[in-house]
Amino acid sequence: MKLLVTGGAGYIGSVVAAQLVEAGHDVTVLDDLSTGHADAVPRGARFVNRPITEAGDALDGVEGVLHFAARSLVGESVEKPGLYWSNNLGGTLALLHAMHEYGVRRLVFSSTAATYGEPERSPILETDPTRPTNPYGASKLAVDTALTAYSGLHKLGAVSLRYFNVAGAYTAPGGDLYRERHTVETHLIPNVLRVATGERESVSVFGTDYPTPDGTCVRDYIHVADLARAHLLALDATTEGEHRVYNLGNGTGFSVREVVEVCREVTGHEIPTVVGPRRPGDPAVLVASSEKIQRELGWKPERTSMSEIVADAWNAIPR
Ligand code: UDP
Repeated sequence: MKLLVTGGAGYIGSVVAAQLVEAGHDVTVLDDLSTGHADAVPRGARFVNRPITEAGDALDGVEGVLHFAARSLVGESVEKPGLYWSNNLGGTLALLHAMHEYGVRRLVFSSTAATYGEPERSPILETDPTRPTNPYGASKLAVDTALTAYSGLHKLGAVSLRYFNVAGAYTAPGGDLYRERHTVETHLIPNVLRVATGERESVSVFGTDYPTPDGTCVRDYIHVADLARAHLLALDATTEGEHRVYNLGNGTGFSVREVVEVCREVTGHEIPTVVGPRRPGDPAVLVASSEKIQRELGWKPERTSMSEIVADAWNAIPR
């Protein structure tokens, strides 16, 4: 299939683009390199250096779009909400308009657990209330809402995948390595591993007074290779006029302290921690029920052990 992957020079987008190329698809990556890296675009994919608001003729003949290009930092979204509304919602609406013009009828959208906000129960189901606690989650939820309307109006077949905490690295069959390398790194596992490499002295633990067993936040960590595979299944499952929503996680929660402990074991390094205040907008527990995608699309996570997720991320760091 001829496909366009927006944000395909970023962490998750590049892994999905690589798996699509491996599966024999004709892939073009559209990315403005605002946060991505040109060398992350997989071998065998074309690269168009443009923002999503200017997709234009890059959509010519395209049968499906996998849309990753977005701002994705919770803290930044609280400080600069306008950036999130204009990029994530405004940018996506422009892309949807262009897709309609070019007759592109399949979309897989990168949504997030942040659409749920502070959940009432765990694990979270797709039918649970969506009450985002930060502009990042709100902007992604607004796109999900728009997709429901667009799919009915324009015969679009759309699937939103709500990611929980994505981690690990991916080695393609040819040996190419895809890893997380944000210039501004806010995520827990890469920050802990930067302490293990000696790049940082300690990692901050954002809050130890949450209503969880050890007082630190609990998250559901999913391996990027498992997550990426779900996009290929979602693409095949797109159905004209339908918008589907699926959670993607492992279904098991790990606290910040537990993650740090696994990182100690895997790397064999001391990881000094410094207790800091809570990070605004962080719910205490976010754990997915991925039962719906398992049942409907036959997806199953294969790399569920936290040690394997951390080891893949650790081994991917050039040293
Ligand atoms: N966290 C932390 N120290 C850090 C980064 C993150 O304690 O340096 C915590 C954060 O508060 C959250 C969890 O680790 O509870 C996962 O955060 P991350 O930013 O990796 O993902 P998010 O849950 O925001 O998508």
